Amino acid sequence: ETLDKGLEKSKTSFLGKLSKAVAGKSKVDDDVLDNLEEVLVTSDVGVNTTLKIIERIEERVARDKYLGTEELNLILREEIAGLLSETHHGEETEFQIDTTHKPYVVMVVGVNGVGKTTTIGKLAYQFKKQGLKVMLGAADTFRAAAIDQLQVWADRVDVPIIKQKMGSDPASVAYDTLSSAVSQEVDVVLIDTAGRLHNKVNLMNELGKVKRVMQKVVPGAPHDVLLVLDGSTGQNAFEQARQFTKATEVSSLAVTKLDGTAKGGVVIGISDQFQIPVKYIGVGEGLEDLQVFNKYEFVDSFFN
Ligand code: GDP
Repeated sequence: ETLDKGLEKSKTSFLGKLSKAVAGKSKVDDDVLDNLEEVLVTSDVGVNTTLKIIERIEERVARDKYLGTEELNLILREEIAGLLSETHHGEETEFQIDTTHKPYVVMVVGVNGVGKTTTIGKLAYQFKKQGLKVMLGAADTFRAAAIDQLQVWADRVDVPIIKQKMGSDPASVAYDTLSSAVSQEVDVVLIDTAGRLHNKVNLMNELGKVKRVMQKVVPGAPHDVLLVLDGSTGQNAFEQARQFTKATEVSSLAVTKLDGTAKGGVVIGISDQFQIPVKYIGVGEGLEDLQVFNKYEFVDSFFN
């Protein structure tokens, strides 16, 4: 697709903005690079990653002496795919767990409202569909609503949930959940946790304790610490990633609400800046609206 055609499309899409940025220019010069920088930043790619991309384009311009604006689209695609490749080794398309661990334990972290519960429900649905035995643990005991919401998803997907009353010790819930999972030969355990960021030390202590207690029941657990971020919140998502990676060892990301935004650039910036792979993307509120992140599909959709 040419940049001209892109111009006719939505002005808010990445390609639309890119087309505007190069309008009337045949070669990539300082002006075009300035515009490109703005396009990347306003697409939530983040300042550091944007500068990295601009630098690489500058290198291409310096090396090849001339770079036409028609080629910019292609080169950007390559550069962005290259950046994603630094953190995404595989090109998974299926929901997968490492079945050498039984149960395989996923600790899900993130602040309220980002779509943590929904993502847990969607994951439970996917794993159950594969014939795996799934169990949920309601270790976000801080809000009654969090426990209720998880129960709603447990009912919807028809998987067991272990919970205690509001205000109980999250580590105790995690312990109970893993104990039940072991005795019932569960394959995948998804543990919801409280994501209060107002006090980093508390968060660190709480997640640390939950982890330590899990390891008493299942050595090596959690096998995945999944941070859920709302992709429509741009800089907030970056800030949350910063805080959570300081508080605990995050091993993968789920970026939600990418259906309602033209700002998917957050996926590029966050995985680059924190060197953590995006494993899943949320594209709606329904059961089926979670996808395994595939860097090639993502780059294609970003440019379409
Ligand atoms: P939590 O507080 O982090 O557990 O957030 P919830 O899972 O309760 O989700 C908060 C709101 O975001 C709900 O209305 C969800 O339906 C909605 N939501 C979650 N994921 C997505 C998504 O990928 N796309 C859209 N459009 N909405 C989502």
